[in-house]
Amino acid sequence: MGQLDGKVAIITGGARGMGRSHVRRFVAEGASVVFGDILEQEGAELAGELGEAVRFVRMDVTSPEDWKNAVETAVAAYGKLDVLVNNAGIIQHKRIEDMSLQECRRILEINLIGQWLGIKAVIEAMKEAGGGSIVNVSSTEGFIGAAGLAAYSASKFGVRGLTKAAARELGEHNIRVNSIHPGGILTPMVMDPDVVAATADSADSFMKALPLGRMGRTREVSGLVAFLASDDAAYCTGSEVLVDGGMLTGAGY
Ligand code: NAP
Repeated sequence: MGQLDGKVAIITGGARGMGRSHVRRFVAEGASVVFGDILEQEGAELAGELGEAVRFVRMDVTSPEDWKNAVETAVAAYGKLDVLVNNAGIIQHKRIEDMSLQECRRILEINLIGQWLGIKAVIEAMKEAGGGSIVNVSSTEGFIGAAGLAAYSASKFGVRGLTKAAARELGEHNIRVNSIHPGGILTPMVMDPDVVAATADSADSFMKALPLGRMGRTREVSGLVAFLASDDAAYCTGSEVLVDGGMLTGAGY
């Protein structure tokens, strides 16, 4: 018996990083998964590896048409939709005075509006399924700010508000909505040399400041996502769960 036996899920940004790990974990737990990404080659490769349990759709989370296609694909291929993992996101390190309005809007559009669009797109199918679980990926930057991350942090704070309001709206339909807040997780997003160079002093000093003394692994986030997606979390909605190695426990002294 898998934790997600019989569940049908959509996972965004599923071709690499944490999303890719969530796709693998969901399949291992018995779910069928439609995963979307703008990275078509990586998506097609993962789909080829995982076979009939998954469908890959080329999907930009800022496109309502792509959302419609993802939901229709899930229902057509697997008969229903139970879970949405709003994972896709981007980061850009630039101070407010250096960032253009267009760059700021793009971050908010993908990281926040993309999740709103996703929730809007899945409501009807989840009602038809008798309920569902939505997991919105925020960040520790949804609780604290960092120089150079104003737009990113604003988007991730926004995800918390979106989650709370959606939980209140959708509870009556047995649709649960929770947010997760990863700290530093080893993915292409943070291993990009430009990003690492712009983050604090170095990835090493960042790791040592944490109570657990290291970056997180994608599978350590996937376990939490699988739990929130599953019926084991049937009484959790509107919650915010940290998976940050203790980053937010204190100021570091
Ligand atoms: P990642 O490795 O960059 O993966 C994110 C995926 O989303 C990439 O494949 C990316 O494609 C895709 N994507 C970007 N824009 C998209 C769009 N408009 N529509 C659909 N897909 C899009 O990042 P990650 O580290 O796994 O991050 C996953 C989520 O966790 C994000 O929401 C991120 O903000 C959050 N998070 C990450 C960390 C961390 O330490 N890694 C910490 C806290 C929160 P491209 O490569 O083409 O952009």
